[in-house]
Amino acid sequence: MKKIKTDEKKIVRLYQNGESALTIQKITGINYKTVYRILENNGIGRRTSSEQTINARKLGRGDYSKQKELASKNWQGRNNPRWKKIGSKRDNGHGYILIKTKSGWVEESRLIAEKILKRKLTKDETIHHINGIKNDNRLKNLFLMLRKEHKAWHTLDNLNKELKDIRPELKSNLITIS
Ligand SMILES: [Zn+2]
Repeated sequence: MKKIKTDEKKIVRLYQNGESALTIQKITGINYKTVYRILENNGIGRRTSSEQTINARKLGRGDYSKQKELASKNWQGRNNPRWKKIGSKRDNGHGYILIKTKSGWVEESRLIAEKILKRKLTKDETIHHINGIKNDNRLKNLFLMLRKEHKAWHTLDNLNKELKDIRPELKSNLITIS
C-alpha cells in the first residue's frame, strides 16, 4: 500500500515535470491508463494536446509531434474512413458535384466537357449551368465560358433579377405620378 502511494507521488511529480503518460509508462512500467487514473485520483487534470506538444518541445523530445505525424499517416489514404474510391461523387460545399479521379477531386461538369472536347479545359475556362442548377450536369445544361464571361453573365443575370423585383414598384410609382 505504502509502495503504491510512493509510486503515485513519483508519477504525479513526473507528470508535473512535463513527462507524458506514455513516457511515465516507459520509466515506471505502469500502464499509461493507470497513470491517468492516478493523476485523476490526485486531482491532476490532463494536459490538452497543444500543451502536450509545447511540453514535448520544451523537453526537446518531440514525441508528441512524432505521434501526431504517425497518427496522421495512419489516417491517410485508404486508412481514412473518409477515403473514397475513384469515381465517387461528393458535393463541393457550394452545390457543385466533385468526382474522384486519379489526380484528386475535380468538378464533374469540367470532366464531362473535357471528354466531349477531347482536351483539358484551361484555367480561364469554366462551365456554366444553364438552368442555374449547379448539380445538373446533363450535357444540355452545360455551357463552356471564359471565366470573365461567366462573371459578367452572372452579374447581368443578378441585375436582371433585381430589376424584375423592382419593376412592379416602378409601375405603381408611375401610376401615382400620372
Ligand atoms: Zn454560371
